[in-house]
Amino acid sequence: MTAPLHDLMMDYPLTLTHFFERGEKLWAKKTIATRIPGHPPFRYTYADFAERTKRLAGVLDRFGLGRGDRVATFAWNSHRHLELYWAAPMTGRVLHTLNIRLAAPDLIYIINHAADSVIFADASVWPILAGIRDKIPTVKKIVIMRDTPDAVVPDGLDDYDTLLAAARPVSGWPKLDETTAAGMCYTSGTTGNPKGVVYTHRAMFLHCLAQSMADQFGISENDVILHIVPMFHANSWCVPFTGTMVGATHVFAGPNPQPRDIAEIIQRERVTFTGAVPTVWIAIKDLCEKEGFDISSLRTIAIGGSAAPRHLQESFEKQFGVVMSHAWGMTEMTPLGTVGRLKSYMKAWDYDRQLDVRSRVGYPSVGVDARIVDDEGRELPWDGVAMGELQVRGPWVLKSYYDNPASADRFTADGWFRTGDVATIDAEGYVQITDRTKDLIKSGGEWISSVDVENMIMAHPKVLEAAVIAVPHPKWVERPLACVVPKPGVTLEPAEIVEFLRPQLAKWALPDEVAVIEAVPKTSVGKFDKKVLRDRFKDWRPKE
Ligand code: ADP
Repeated sequence: MTAPLHDLMMDYPLTLTHFFERGEKLWAKKTIATRIPGHPPFRYTYADFAERTKRLAGVLDRFGLGRGDRVATFAWNSHRHLELYWAAPMTGRVLHTLNIRLAAPDLIYIINHAADSVIFADASVWPILAGIRDKIPTVKKIVIMRDTPDAVVPDGLDDYDTLLAAARPVSGWPKLDETTAAGMCYTSGTTGNPKGVVYTHRAMFLHCLAQSMADQFGISENDVILHIVPMFHANSWCVPFTGTMVGATHVFAGPNPQPRDIAEIIQRERVTFTGAVPTVWIAIKDLCEKEGFDISSLRTIAIGGSAAPRHLQESFEKQFGVVMSHAWGMTEMTPLGTVGRLKSYMKAWDYDRQLDVRSRVGYPSVGVDARIVDDEGRELPWDGVAMGELQVRGPWVLKSYYDNPASADRFTADGWFRTGDVATIDAEGYVQITDRTKDLIKSGGEWISSVDVENMIMAHPKVLEAAVIAVPHPKWVERPLACVVPKPGVTLEPAEIVEFLRPQLAKWALPDEVAVIEAVPKTSVGKFDKKVLRDRFKDWRPKE
């Protein structure tokens, strides 16, 4: 008889607690900063952070919150928000990051649906919550964080720092199963009603490891990370967790950061890694061109959330010497799905060909299986041509939305998540997001990718932003309408855009008309809001 071979390694739970306890010993001297408008940044060390996080855990205990209770945040990016990021999950509670830019009805819906017990709110955004206070009955406590120097704590509410100062730090952390819920985030509702996603400790643990890999974002102890992605958007791309795991220097962008604040922080703090949606980088490019900020300390900018225009990547590299890493992900995926990196042998290719690769969203991350399927659910080849719905599975992909039986159709019978994105995958494994299913334009039996046309238009030297939407057409079913924002002070004739596109596009894909608009409306997380545009142009009729 042979001795047992099976399962001879320890059952060590993959929880965030491991990262924290290890970091407390290893990174005590490293620093964390938050921008305070009009004042020098707030700074402290990881040792201070650990001490305060333990005090915060003491506060949560004193509030009488049980395991699994939802601890919501309603706040800008800051060190206090980071303390909540860790204290809630490590005590077995669930961190729920509320999006401060949502309209009141969505907020009320989300808070009630999640049944939040307590909300930690920045003073500067408290008035939004004050207006809905009587409509969120599950919330027993609201704690105010003074995010600006002149902030006051309204009567009857608790002040975060005072609570912490008086609290007794916990002496240790409970043992948690790795499948315990750690965090909760609702999709921002770009395409419909917000839906809740619940991250487990295990999902976050594995995601952090993958995200830090050299072949992904290569996040390491050497990095100075500027957190621009709101801590309420898609788990803040998980970077606050990954950055703490590796002991990187954190810099939080603080209340309501503007492009100038971001450029100043990058220059002053010598930031090496940051990430944000493309609209942020479009604005920063414009500013850096005009005012010459030095952003050369950046080794990588992670860009995603919506398609990163090819010309934007090219400009950052040629003008500022900064390489962008184009990534695709979803709130539903903790959020990393693919990361755009060149393979070693591609570095010998000519620059244009390299840019072709980098304008795609990269290949699937380790830990993520991806496939594209046709309308009948048949898997399509990876040939860069066949286009179908992108489906994924993996240890950090959700298996069900929180309490939302109506969304069961987002999962296939064989266990894949239907992303709702339409994509091609080439023979090298690089994914190209053609569009969201809802944004594709169907003209006379042909599909037009709004993303492709937008990216071409945004390469025009007079254009700041462009969004292309489908408008109904009596003969062709739908036609593309290009909504274009000129750079400040520039006059732009619609015909200039059409002529610019003509040599690049098939005749049927060429927008017949171009609307020059003042700004592309943005969603609560800074993406182009095509729902609003479609509504604005719903009565638009094509010229004969
Ligand atoms: P919401 O659905 O509310 O916008 P998410 O931020 O989770 O919330 O959005 C995920 C979606 O964003 C993806 O399904 C995809 O459509 C889009 N997306 C993310 N990254 C990219 C990218 N690099 N290129 C194109 N689309 C992207």
